Parts: sequence; C-alpha cells; structure tokens
Amino acid sequence: MQADLAIVGGTVVTGAGETRADVVVRAGRIAGVVEPGSAATAATVDADGLLVLPGFVDTHVHLMDPGSTEREDFPTGSAAAAARGVTTIVEHTHAHPVRERRDLEEKVAYLRGRANVSFGLAAHVWPDRIEGLEDLWRAGVTFFKIFTCTTHGVPAVEGDVLRRTLEAVAGFGGTCLVHAEDEHRTAEAEAALRAEGRTDPGVIPAWRSREAELEAVEAVADLVVATGARLTIAHVSSPDVVQAVVAARRRGADLAAEACPQYLLLQESEIAEQGPLRKFTPPARNRGPEDADEMWRLLAEGALTHVSTDHAPSTKAQKLAGDIWEAPFGLPGLDTTSRLLLDAAAAGRLRWSDVARRYAEEPARRYGLWPAKGNLADGADADLVLVDPDATVRIRDEDVISKAGWTPFDGRETRGDVVQVFLGGEEIARDGEPRGDRTGRFLAGPGAVAGTQETLA
Ligand SMILES: [Zn+2]
Repeated sequence: MQADLAIVGGTVVTGAGETRADVVVRAGRIAGVVEPGSAATAATVDADGLLVLPGFVDTHVHLMDPGSTEREDFPTGSAAAAARGVTTIVEHTHAHPVRERRDLEEKVAYLRGRANVSFGLAAHVWPDRIEGLEDLWRAGVTFFKIFTCTTHGVPAVEGDVLRRTLEAVAGFGGTCLVHAEDEHRTAEAEAALRAEGRTDPGVIPAWRSREAELEAVEAVADLVVATGARLTIAHVSSPDVVQAVVAARRRGADLAAEACPQYLLLQESEIAEQGPLRKFTPPARNRGPEDADEMWRLLAEGALTHVSTDHAPSTKAQKLAGDIWEAPFGLPGLDTTSRLLLDAAAAGRLRWSDVARRYAEEPARRYGLWPAKGNLADGADADLVLVDPDATVRIRDEDVISKAGWTPFDGRETRGDVVQVFLGGEEIARDGEPRGDRTGRFLAGPGAVAGTQETLA
C-alpha cells in the first residue's frame, strides 16, 4: 500500500484492545491499520516498543482567549495540549462567552492561526436568550454550557428556565454540559460564611457543599428524564454523584458523567494547607485511598463515561493575590492529564484501552466529533499519539507550558509518557516539546448545516 507515512512496529491501542499493527497515513487521514511489515512507504516512524493511541480529545477546557489572556491564551494552552497528546479540544471561556451566532463567527475568525490542535467551541446558555439556541447549534457550536448556580459571572439557569432550555435543546438534537451546584444552597451558605467574617480556606467546601452538588445533579437528572435532552454532568466529584447519574440512566436518561483528575487524585483536606491553590468547584471530595479507588473503578467500568481536564488556569500570583473569596476558581490540567491517566494504566488502575476509550473515543462520540476524531481506524483523521509505556517522568512546575506555570501535581512521579504526536499526519510535538506552527483548525459541531465549516474556517 503506497502511503505518505507509516508508523511501524508499535502496538495499536483502541477502546477495543491492543494489537500489533502498522498505521498507514495518506493525505492526513488513516489509510489502513495493517499487518506489521506490510506498509510500503518511503517515510516510516519506528514505534518499536511504543503504544500507538488515537489523539486525545479533551472536551472541557478554558483557554481564556479572548477573555482573560493574562491567565491563558490559545497559543500557550493549545501548545500544552499538543505536547501531551491532546489533538482535539472543545473550548469555552466564561469571561467572553459565545451567546449568539455572531459571537461564534468572531471567535473563529480571531482564533485563526492561534491553535496547535483542532478545536471546537461551546456556547454559554444565558437565561434570557433561550430562543436563540437553535441558531447557535446550526452555526456549529459543539455543546451548550449551563451553570445551575451563578459562577464566574455566568448567571444561573435553573427551575423552569432550565426545563425550557432542555426542551429546546432536545427539540433540535443538541447536547449540554452542566455545572451542577444548587443556587439556593450555595447562596445561603455564602451569605452565612461571609456574615461570620470567615476567610479561612475551609469556606470553600462549606460553601460548595456535597449536598449542593448532589441536589442539583438530581434536579438536572429529573429534567433530563422528563425532556429527553442529551446531557453531561461536568466534573463529577464523588461516588455519590455517580450513583445519582446511574440511577437516572436506569430511568432512561441519556446522561454522561465527566471525570477530571482532580477528583481522582487530590484530597479534600489539601485545601487547608494549599488554600487558593486548591480552590476549584465542586471541590475535591476524596477523604482517603478507598474514595480514590472507588472513583478509578467507576471510570474503568464506564459509570464515569469520559475524562476531561476542566483546564482553568491562573498563575500562582493570580491565585494568591487576594483572600480565599477573591481567588479565581480552577486548576491548570492540560500539561498533566494524559500523564496521570497513563500512570494509572501503568499501575493497573486502568487498562491501556481505557485511556483510549475514556480520553479519546467516548468524548468524541459524545460530542459528535466521531468518527473523524478520537478514532484510530480507516478514514479517521491521522491524529496519533506515541506512548512509551515504560518511561518514568517527574511532573514539575518548571515544565508546565500553560501560562499557569504550575500544577497541583508538581513533584509526582508518573510512568508512561507521550513521546510523539501527530495531527492530520503532521508531527506537532516530540519528547514533550510542541512545534511552533499552529495548524489546528476549527471543527464545526454536529448541528452545523453543510458548508458552515468551510465558511467559518
Ligand atoms: Zn469548566
């Protein structure tokens, strides 16, 4: 088979399992996954001893561009993604939300030449703009982000407004990502904590309580059952929340549950020491190794359907500038998530195929990016990640490419590392170093009418 490029001698890993095979690339796409030694091409990449996975798909990232570029921008955030094997992202920025078709068109035009990886863009639902959602979907947004509690300056969508939103989205076949914390419980808790004059880090888990998250998830789940909307619960923090999602699925809900490394690996108690550097919401809930074991188990079995970073970076200086109330929410994640998942596979908490499935295939399917993205098969985009399963690395603040410049996982030793990354058959990173050229293009969402992709890109 004549080809532009072949990746030979490696072990191909997909959600279905592992197999020794060569991967043939032609014109930016995968042209065959063939018997070892059967690819005929002038250009080969030797993957002996390496795993070959589909490029990772991270559907929940905030690159703050435009919006809060002092925290992150597309060139830095997408370079971090490329270095760690994330070849597709879906981005949304709270400080500069996409709320109508023109916002999307302007953002796509602005981002031309600013991305190292493929990117989709999500919209924000505003309570007074529900009638415009279908037009946004047809314009090519990937999903609609909903907050059930006022957060980051984004107003709450709850009760009857949430019901009407989900009815509308179900009507035109769209998809939502919901940040679920109860508006009334969080508002009451905040007022009480402020009235007491508290500024210790303990206010975060008290304000953003387990009950507030669980009640909101249950209310959203009921509306999903009632309306038939397709929806993902963002950043599920604990097994209790997973169980609420599983119960709704038994009642017919098309409900996905997103896992993020901070809920698998960080401890609830860390905020007492680390303060603003562990301020994110919902907060970490794990209280011991058995909680972490249970979360990993739920991810391996698929109750937690897919992984994202919820990359929401700030520099340490930005995090530590004010008191705990003033500190921005969020953690950087694009520099570390694939390493943490590969380490979990090397340690036997996940299978290698789970990494492909939960951080490439499932999110691509969920958001209509499949079969071009997240898919190591004939006809898919040649977005490929080569992994050395035996490499040992130490995660360090000084290696972080994100503008954040730090990571909550600093000092952690991990096994299994991304050594080479291809986007559309072109190398975009090697040995953790992203290339300078920004060839990532906008991916119109599944609701886009034919031709939109060309028009916008
Ligand atoms: Zn987020």
